[in-house]
Amino acid sequence: MCKYCDEFMEKHEKYYNELDKKWVLKISESSYYSYPKCAFTPLGNYNKDNWECQTMVKLRQLEDHHDWNDDESIGIVKISNGYLVMTYYKGRGRTGNAMIMCDDEMRELTLNDAYRILEER
Ligand SMILES: [Zn+2]
Repeated sequence: MCKYCDEFMEKHEKYYNELDKKWVLKISESSYYSYPKCAFTPLGNYNKDNWECQTMVKLRQLEDHHDWNDDESIGIVKISNGYLVMTYYKGRGRTGNAMIMCDDEMRELTLNDAYRILEER
């Protein structure tokens, strides 16, 4: 798990929602939030099966360009030597793809890349 998911889990009180039979985080008196599902494996590789990973939330906030095509959307962040390109379904909490792209390289984002990009800003 990334350090931002860790911080997020520590910062908020855990609450058992009897109705949905699941644990959630209490954000304020009236708002609750699903546990984030980190976008990074213990080795720091990208995992598409994620939800509101707090590192991805921060990267999304840096978007220089965003576009929609029906339910699909794409976000682009300018980074040194190229771009971080992220795709979402309906702009929801999951980030499907997160790729580092430049003229001579295309690969999946790693946790180290993500921390470096956030430090650069
Ligand atoms: Zn995370």
